[in-house]
Amino acid sequence: MRRLPIFFLVDVSESMVGESLSKLEKGITAIVSTLRKDPYALETAHLCVIIFAGKARTVTPLTELASFQPPELPVGGGTALGSALGHVMDEIDRTVISTTPDRKGDWRPIVFLLTDGHPTDSTHKAVERWNRSYRSRSHLVAVSIGGNADHVVLRRLTDDVVVFNDAAPDAFARFVKWISMSIQSQSRSVSAGKDGGISLAKTEPGLLAPVEKAAGLTPFGGVDDRYAVFVGKCEKSRLPYVVKYERHMGRIETTDPVLAEMLKTRRYALAGAVPVKTTYFDLSDGADSGQAVNSEDLVGQPACPHCGARFGMAVCECGHIHCVSGDGVHTCPWCGGQGHYGSAGKGKGFDIGRGRG
Ligand SMILES: [Zn+2]
Ligand SMILES: [Zn+2]
Repeated sequence: MRRLPIFFLVDVSESMVGESLSKLEKGITAIVSTLRKDPYALETAHLCVIIFAGKARTVTPLTELASFQPPELPVGGGTALGSALGHVMDEIDRTVISTTPDRKGDWRPIVFLLTDGHPTDSTHKAVERWNRSYRSRSHLVAVSIGGNADHVVLRRLTDDVVVFNDAAPDAFARFVKWISMSIQSQSRSVSAGKDGGISLAKTEPGLLAPVEKAAGLTPFGGVDDRYAVFVGKCEKSRLPYVVKYERHMGRIETTDPVLAEMLKTRRYALAGAVPVKTTYFDLSDGADSGQAVNSEDLVGQPACPHCGARFGMAVCECGHIHCVSGDGVHTCPWCGGQGHYGSAGKGKGFDIGRGRG
């Protein structure tokens, strides 16, 4: 049987933390259950899930639909697109059976690349390798989540670059449907013996927009720095968590005069804090972004998602963030240093190194 190999190459960098990632996890489950009901897809489609942040890793090797178990998507720091492309090409070499004069191999693989940020590593070599040896024998569909990916780089890889407006109503459900329909239609084409171009489902206005050749700019307003993301550690459990702030851009309405005053000058409002696993550090490249956000730019302080301590954004002298239960002497779970912690004086703020999304 000739397989239709499908690779999901999913960006799990910090900006994806929370809603986006859990929706994608559920999305993969939904895609699989839709495809299982389709006799053509069931017969041909095989799925592989690769995640990448600062590093890339295969979380589910190429598996037939019937025995596919949707993976959990962990979080890491960085968006190493170059490594991710290298990883998917190695995976194609390892698992996709090529056609030879005396053997019919697999159908052309489809790669769905889902990313929401600019690469943090060099992509030059990987792009060259892709175009030289893989582009003509696979289909790459690059999805720029929220229009925040580097469209110039993506356009160098494929003609199929689409912007996914993740703020649209029922965005993820509709997006998942689009991917499922595209896979279904491609499995129909190959079952009929056609393995030419890819037959993607129709894009929907307002949800998915193709990026045209010349477009380096993003159709949805392309706000850079949509998020400010920080990595903290719990003082008690020493486990990591990610704190996400979102640019509020005047969208928050409040009757609280103190909050209203803060929102006038501070750009980022707390979106939430989520526990992450220690694999966070295995998936991160360990480099700092070099950017810093002052606490004077942030509204809201989360509780620690591990132990419930009231302050999840205490900053040690070593520059790292951790939780503290209140004023007093605390031990930094990053450097082991002890110090006295109290609320920052009015107008002082603190500078904290930020993740790169
Ligand atoms: Zn804690
Ligand atoms: Zn420290």
